[in-house]
Parts: sequence; C-alpha cells; structure tokens
Amino acid sequence: IEKTLSIVKPDAVDRNLIGAIYQRFENADLKIVAAKMIHMNAEKAQGFYAEHEGKPFFADLVEFMTSGPVMVQVLEGESSITRYRELMGKTNPEDAACGTIRSDFALSLRHNSVHGSDSPESAAREVAYFFADDEIF
Ligand code: ATP
Ligand code: MG
Repeated sequence: IEKTLSIVKPDAVDRNLIGAIYQRFENADLKIVAAKMIHMNAEKAQGFYAEHEGKPFFADLVEFMTSGPVMVQVLEGESSITRYRELMGKTNPEDAACGTIRSDFALSLRHNSVHGSDSPESAAREVAYFFADDEIF
C-alpha cells in the first residue's frame, strides 16, 4: 500500500486544527501510520524544501515553516499520494475546490495549512527525511 508524507503546518497547529485535519485523513481512509510534533530549525526546513531553493518565495517559506511547531505524519492507503493531494486542494486556497482542507482552513498561499508529497519519489524521500523505519507502523 502506498505511503505519503503529510505536514500540518504552523498556521493550522496554532489555530487548534490538528484534530479537524486528522479527521479528514481518517474519513478519507488515509491511515496515520506514523506521527510526531516537531519544531523545525532553518536547516531542517531548507533541506525539506530543497527543490524550491533559489525561488523568490523560498526564504519566506522557510521562515513560516520554522515559525512554530508542526505535526508530521505518514499516511497510508490506496493511491494515497494523489488522493491526499486531492483532499488538500490547490496550493493557493483561493483556487482550492470547496470541501478541500485548504479551501476550508488555509489563510493564504503561504499559510496554507498542510503539505503533501507530490510524487512517489518525493514521498519516499520525505518519509525518510522525518521517520526511521521502526517509527512507521
Ligand atoms: P506543499 O509542498 O507545501 O505541499 P505544494 O506542493 O502545493 O505545497 P509547492 O509548489 O511545493 O506547493 O510550494 C511549496 C509551498 O511554498 C506552498 O505550499 C506555498 O506555501 C509556498 N509557495 C509556493 N508558491 C508560492 C508563491 N508563488 N508565493 C508564495 N509562496 C509560495
Ligand atoms: Mg510541494
């Protein structure tokens, strides 16, 4: 079964939305098989978002992702990568379909409440970036 890496971002943790967002995962049959709360430093966030290094929004993205604690989790399910991306909605909440997590909870393009891996390759890298094999159940 496919695994994907999910982050509940600082804006959502700050607004007490962890439970509401976890409910969306479980309602969609995306099983939480690993989870932890962490507060990333700049090095950790830069490494996570290495694909965006050099882009104009990179510094602000890293600043936001290090601004407070996040929940990081591994979600498992049939076609979990694409199904979770659909559940999140488009990156900019103004473009996100009704009923998606970003449409319902995100504040802005930057403060968009959740992250999800965008391919099998990124999912493998991102899961391993946060979790050891024996932390995934
Ligand atoms: P994520 O990787 O966080 O799941 P995503 O895959 O939908 O989001 P990416 O293109 O990977 O979007 O961008 C990573 C994050 O960088 C976005 O979630 C958003 O917060 C921020 N971002 C992307 N594009 C812009 C932009 N043009 N201006 C400001 N912030 C941006
Ligand atoms: Mg992305």
